[in-house]
Amino acid sequence: MFCKIINGDIPCSKVYEDDKILAFHDINPQAPVHCLIVPKVHIASADGIDETNADVVAEVFMAAPIIAKKLGLTRGYRIITNIGEDGCQSVKHIHFHLVGGRQLSETMA
Ligand code: AMP
Repeated sequence: MFCKIINGDIPCSKVYEDDKILAFHDINPQAPVHCLIVPKVHIASADGIDETNADVVAEVFMAAPIIAKKLGLTRGYRIITNIGEDGCQSVKHIHFHLVGGRQLSETMA
């Protein structure tokens, strides 16, 4: 499904794009700012990261401060990636939630 957003077949509220990454606002935000950072290459989840594709993780974390600045997150933010059933991953294309815009909970699970 995120492949269709990347290809432009499904619209999104774009925040950032480069040749490796697309970031857009989550359709069901769980914080005042909730954006998804999505590598364009299709990898099912972070469980599929290996030596052939690990560069996309660095690309995501290099884009994150640019995105955070664009979204006015001067006080910090959190990046989360859900993996598999227990991790509550609903979309099987690797993505990183960038959430912020308020003091976040100290708990993570
Ligand atoms: P996850 O549960 O970690 O797989 O996260 C998937 C996220 O994608 C959820 O937070 C959804 O709200 C979000 N989502 C699903 N479809 C869309 C869409 N078309 N545009 C933006 N966000 C979406």
